[in-house]
Amino acid sequence: MVVVMKSGSTPRQVEHVINLVREMGLKDHVIVGTERTVVAVIGNDRFKDRSVFESVEGVEKVVPILAPYKMASKEVRERSVVPLVDAKTQPRVAVPQVGGKRVAIIAGPCSVENKSQLLEIAHAVKEAGAVGLRGGAFKPRTNPYSFQGMAEEGLKLLAVAREQTGLAVVTEVMAVEQVELVGRYADVLQVGARNMQNFNLLSAVGEQSKPVLLKRGMSATLEEFLLAAEYILSRGNTNVMLCERGIRTYEDYVRNTLALAAVPELHRVSHLPVIVDPSQGTGKSYLVDSMCRAAVAAGADGLIIEVHNDPEHALTDGAQSITPVQFGEMMASIRRIAAAVDRDV
Ligand code: PEP
Ligand code: MN
Repeated sequence: MVVVMKSGSTPRQVEHVINLVREMGLKDHVIVGTERTVVAVIGNDRFKDRSVFESVEGVEKVVPILAPYKMASKEVRERSVVPLVDAKTQPRVAVPQVGGKRVAIIAGPCSVENKSQLLEIAHAVKEAGAVGLRGGAFKPRTNPYSFQGMAEEGLKLLAVAREQTGLAVVTEVMAVEQVELVGRYADVLQVGARNMQNFNLLSAVGEQSKPVLLKRGMSATLEEFLLAAEYILSRGNTNVMLCERGIRTYEDYVRNTLALAAVPELHRVSHLPVIVDPSQGTGKSYLVDSMCRAAVAAGADGLIIEVHNDPEHALTDGAQSITPVQFGEMMASIRRIAAAVDRDV
């Protein structure tokens, strides 16, 4: 960080800042300019409380140089490729991955509702080229009287669908107590937008070995998002995928505003793969296809899309679910976009 002194700050005030820097075990380099003095702090100040300097007399501002996250940052590596299965326990011949040349498509219903619904959708999305099957068994619902998901019964159906199709199962875990149970059936643990800052849950999924799909909180900044990822990474699980799923704004033509600039920005500052969810990201099935194309064009490493065989009767999120036929058309259209940006689908 750089501590910028106010114009007219006294040598004693500068001295005080220098002492604080040294107390933190860091080095200082004072630069006396014609109008200002600045104290450049040398060393890893990432884990120090930078705000301490802001209220010190004579200090105008503190300019951070290092991002507050480290393991999620580009300092670690340029790009990460995350397998869609627990590579430790399920070695597969051709493991689907997120972050390589191929854009990974994860599709399925918002919620697992029953066996025939799930299997029909799973086979259809597999046929059209998906590598992962989504489906919530534990649903985070705003209204406590709404369908809450099938819980373990839903997880069992997801396992049957995997058995039949070979698709990697992605499903949400809502609480620390569910991590073990969901991990028994799922290939990828999804941490939902509403839980992005559930730090106990982040730590718990960081302490197990299944890959994690972390959704951006609906009012989280990208820095908060990456710090949430850092929780998981710092607990030892390096298989983290970031998912942009739209943020809350004043707009009402959509359910959420899909912030697609987050894709190249996250790639600029982090090595983690980025997945886009155009379903929660718009809330409207008629906007999903265009946003899939835009996401691939923007460099998304994967898409997670809600597909339902009977959207009008879906128990959750029918309005944003596309049909298997629409899914097939979408796949054809993103193949052309992917080729244009040197990717495959
Ligand atoms: C979902 O994927 O159905 C879901 C609830 O997502 P989010 O956490 O992004 O709202
Ligand atoms: Mn949903």
